[in-house]
Amino acid sequence: MSCTLCPRQCPIDRTAANGFCGCSSVPKIARAALHYDEEPCISGTRGSGTIFFSGCNLKCIFCQNIVLQDGTLGEPFSVERLADVMRKLQSMGAHNINLVTPTPHHDAIVSALKKAKQNGLTIPVLYNTNSYESVETIRSYEGLVDLYLPDLKYCDERIARRFSKATDYFPTAMNAIGEMIRQVGFMQLDENGIATRGVRIRHLVLPGCVFDTRAILDAIASRFGTDCPLSLMSQYTPIPSCTVPPLNRRLTQREYETALDYCLSLGFRDVLSQGLDSAESHYTPPFSDHVTL
Ligand code: SF4
Repeated sequence: MSCTLCPRQCPIDRTAANGFCGCSSVPKIARAALHYDEEPCISGTRGSGTIFFSGCNLKCIFCQNIVLQDGTLGEPFSVERLADVMRKLQSMGAHNINLVTPTPHHDAIVSALKKAKQNGLTIPVLYNTNSYESVETIRSYEGLVDLYLPDLKYCDERIARRFSKATDYFPTAMNAIGEMIRQVGFMQLDENGIATRGVRIRHLVLPGCVFDTRAILDAIASRFGTDCPLSLMSQYTPIPSCTVPPLNRRLTQREYETALDYCLSLGFRDVLSQGLDSAESHYTPPFSDHVTL
């Protein structure tokens, strides 16, 4: 028996062993809270109802949430508890339910979303992913997920192999994002500027990798068009365990401006940009083995 939820296709039974992502068949959650550090159209004024899942199927060597990567931190959650937490976040005023690194937890999330919606969950559901996804897994969320925030991390397969052990990252992610756009279109906002439906592609500009950012932007423009909403992020912060150049330094102002200028020169109209002061470790929230909601 294999797990086929993501492109890793681990040859294991998740009820008996953990795969590359470190996850068993029971999801662990390391934080569930209102979160104010997403894009303004996601966090709004009342916060995004964010659920941080433990474990990851990509395991980037520079990850800000590296403590969650191996899947050990966090509290095991039943489907019922997960559905309850979604409804509690809604009652606290959340603009949306924001599922962070949800990929390995597909079955529990689908069951919990159905249960929560039957019991009154009405705010948009946001799937916040590294995009190393199979098209089939994304297709199965049709009708359950309203918003997708897919990262598009690398184009060059040597970078993808070196930073995430995923040589096939780029074509895989592009196909997954294509399915997201087919389902819900490009991101739409309500009269208050809050996202209600659709896709916005995120790209974190990495130090020393502006050439790859250009290739990614070219590919998005070519495949999805320049109406595709983007978040071009500058918040890269080196973590102590990642000493590999160029990831051991921050992005420079010049690098980010070069990337942003290129993006605008291609004709992208809906681009959220950031100041370099976004590169602060306080953007990483506290995680724990006990969820207080
Ligand atoms: S979700 Fe986890 S166990 Fe399943 S294929 Fe992906 S990495 Fe492997």
